[in-house]
Amino acid sequence: FGENPDGSLKEHLKRSYGDWLPPYSTRMRIVVTGAAGFVGSHLVDFLMKRGHTVIAIDNFSTGYHMNLLDWMDHRNFELHTHDVRNPLNIKGKVDQIFHLAGSASPDECISDPISILTTCFQGTINMLELARRCNARFLLASSCGIYGFPLWHHNPQSENFLGNVKTFGRRACHDEGKRAAESLCYAYAKQHNVEVRIARVFNTFGPRMRIDDGRVVSTFILQCLRGECFTIKGDGNSSRSLMYISDLIDGLIELMLSDYTGGPMNFGKQEEYNMIEVTEIVTRAVKKVQGDKFRPTPTSFLPARTDDPLMRHPDCTLAKEQLGWSTKVDIDEGMLETVEWFAAMEEEDWLYDTE
Ligand code: NAD
Repeated sequence: FGENPDGSLKEHLKRSYGDWLPPYSTRMRIVVTGAAGFVGSHLVDFLMKRGHTVIAIDNFSTGYHMNLLDWMDHRNFELHTHDVRNPLNIKGKVDQIFHLAGSASPDECISDPISILTTCFQGTINMLELARRCNARFLLASSCGIYGFPLWHHNPQSENFLGNVKTFGRRACHDEGKRAAESLCYAYAKQHNVEVRIARVFNTFGPRMRIDDGRVVSTFILQCLRGECFTIKGDGNSSRSLMYISDLIDGLIELMLSDYTGGPMNFGKQEEYNMIEVTEIVTRAVKKVQGDKFRPTPTSFLPARTDDPLMRHPDCTLAKEQLGWSTKVDIDEGMLETVEWFAAMEEEDWLYDTE
């Protein structure tokens, strides 16, 4: 659309942003891989609401059609059911590629490590090739997993920490896969002048996160909503930083638009919470959502998972200095939004519907 967007988009943008519309000159054609997943679908919402054209790529291995339902019939939206391990051609110009396809699930690292590795490696090559052909700027969603098993003196982890990763550990497929993907980005930048940006994403939560991914937030929310026992792996002292999804989306957009080419950049919540604290945060939110129906949830401790890092705590000074980015959403506020979404999904029986 041009200066006069069609009725449906105009109405949608009005509902979301009052009368505000971005100027035509800043509207772009943007590829998002992993678009049907948790982070990807929130990014698609953000870009569509600002009037961009989005080409969504996903093989629906862990993504959900319902995450993209709002946009399926929109004229500025295209969906390609495609596995990024196969080459992809897009006709016409592409300005930016957000490459998010891939799984961060601890459970999948056990059930299908080869697929995680090949998606990281071959998938990133194919999307970088697309960026090269289209002369598009490329952003990789990398992971705090590349730091591996940080020791106490590596806490918090800054971009200068080079990592402590075991090639044969349980999470190696994800951690080493992302390390290879980062190196591929720099190889394409050097050899083919592709403009690359790398976001090292720390634990993120919010509505539409995968319920069955074996991560602490989704597991604890379901246990608490169902009045089951919290199961903490280890002694409860391991810690995570938990960032709300809208803060991550702001960071990805800022990084993509910035001129910073100095290397990878961390995005995560600066505060750390141990597992006991996470159960308390979840309990507060579930209590608010369930009201009188709330029943206290007991806690049990299981053996720690092998190769699970004891702490994940980002140093985000670089993002603050270079982009002026920092997290804004309070953990209780974000958890309430998330629990409300989980509760609504469970009520609708959608938690098990993968279509
Ligand atoms: P997700 O599983 O919800 O979404 C990933 C999406 O990628 C899914 O829709 C899936 O179907 C798609 N996908 C997977 N393999 C594919 C393939 N071969 N071809 C095409 N599509 C494929 O995960 P998410 O939490 O949204 O994570 C998005 C990205 O961010 C991932 O690369 C992940 O490693 C990274 N990341 C996320 C977190 C987090 O806390 N969510 C933390 C660190 C890194």
